[in-house]
Amino acid sequence: PAAFAEPLAVLGSEVEVPLVSGEKVGYAALDYAASAPALRRVWDDVAAYAPYYGSVHRGAGYLSQLSTELYEQSRQAVADFLDLREGDQVVFTRATTDSLNLLAGAVPAGTRVFAFETEHHASLLPWQQAGLAVTYLRAPRSHAEAVAALDAALAADPAGPDAPRLLCVTGASNVTGELWPIAELTGTAHRHGARVVVDAAQLAPHHRVSVRELDVDWIAFSGHKLYAPFGAGVLAGRADWLDAAEPYLAGGGASRTVARQADGSVAVEWHRGPARHEAGSPNVIGAYAIASACRALTEAGLDALREREELLIERLTEGLAAVPEVRVLSLFGADAARVGVLSFVVRGWNSSHFSAALSAEYGIGVRDGLFCAHPLVRTLLGSEDTAPSECGAPEPSLPGERSLNAIRVSFGAGTPLEHVDRFLAAV
Ligand code: PMP
Repeated sequence: PAAFAEPLAVLGSEVEVPLVSGEKVGYAALDYAASAPALRRVWDDVAAYAPYYGSVHRGAGYLSQLSTELYEQSRQAVADFLDLREGDQVVFTRATTDSLNLLAGAVPAGTRVFAFETEHHASLLPWQQAGLAVTYLRAPRSHAEAVAALDAALAADPAGPDAPRLLCVTGASNVTGELWPIAELTGTAHRHGARVVVDAAQLAPHHRVSVRELDVDWIAFSGHKLYAPFGAGVLAGRADWLDAAEPYLAGGGASRTVARQADGSVAVEWHRGPARHEAGSPNVIGAYAIASACRALTEAGLDALREREELLIERLTEGLAAVPEVRVLSLFGADAARVGVLSFVVRGWNSSHFSAALSAEYGIGVRDGLFCAHPLVRTLLGSEDTAPSECGAPEPSLPGERSLNAIRVSFGAGTPLEHVDRFLAAV
């Protein structure tokens, strides 16, 4: 497949790195699932805006007003990108982790949460941490099994449909890259009166997402995985629970009026709408960069992006299938559809050593570890009994038969075929 033309060219494609041989090669960034390189278009848009930026809201000066306008337009660009419904809100956050923690603090008291144990820790942990009752569903081995497990869990839930209930589920796994049956799970959840939030950190950068068509209640993603820089993310969806919740942070911007009371305390009236959860000076550049990425992806066509990526995925999976020592990790089987994210282990190899060698000998940047999804990776490796290791911590053992960590390769817009081919040759 031809390389991407503008506007999906990414920064960093000219970076060269030294190998142990002393030679220098172009860096093959194959760790998009952690953070994707920025689109050149995003960087150019941010650079063009930079001289004009000012603090949003209430500034009387021209640049402050301009920034306020651009900040609100950025919200609209995200709403268009996600195909939100009338009345849905876009809250700018720091990233997906922040978005899901915000939602965990905003759900009505007593909300019962359902999550598959296969989630990334960002979508697995905030609910329990917020003091909510969580039902963890075991790793399903097919889409049908996932839907049936949710159906059974909701039906068996003693609180019944009158209690507020929420399913949190990933759109695409950050470990296997496999797609989850979001529309079917949402249909099942809604039939039981439960709401749904989708962790789209790995889905939104690869596939067109329509909140309206999927009918999900909320969606979260990170700018730095969507070809924008670090520091900004999105929580988007239904306004009712968000408007009824305590503000995520207390401070200026979220408060509409604050008045001294006779007893010496202060009475606060909080804003409704996104401002309620965006106290403090917002990350205008981050929001603007996300909006720029949303527009660039839409203009280039997410379907074209996906089509090209699928050719790379096919090349990758066929190439790895030809190496008998390689085992590709999968929940849903060899035919499961995935985004450009794949994890594997190599028999007889320590995954950390293998990844280090890809870097030092071939200039290829992948990732090894448990990818902040410990229960999932342990299930996939069949090592549920192993001692916990830190998120991404290197494997302690010497090369052996049994892998405690996996190797993840991931790509997207701007990845040339040569990177995939070099990776396969190196493996
Ligand atoms: N969910 C998934 C599926 C992810 O892959 C990640 C990032 N690895 C996150 C959530 C957390 O995103 P962030 O680190 O940007 O908050």
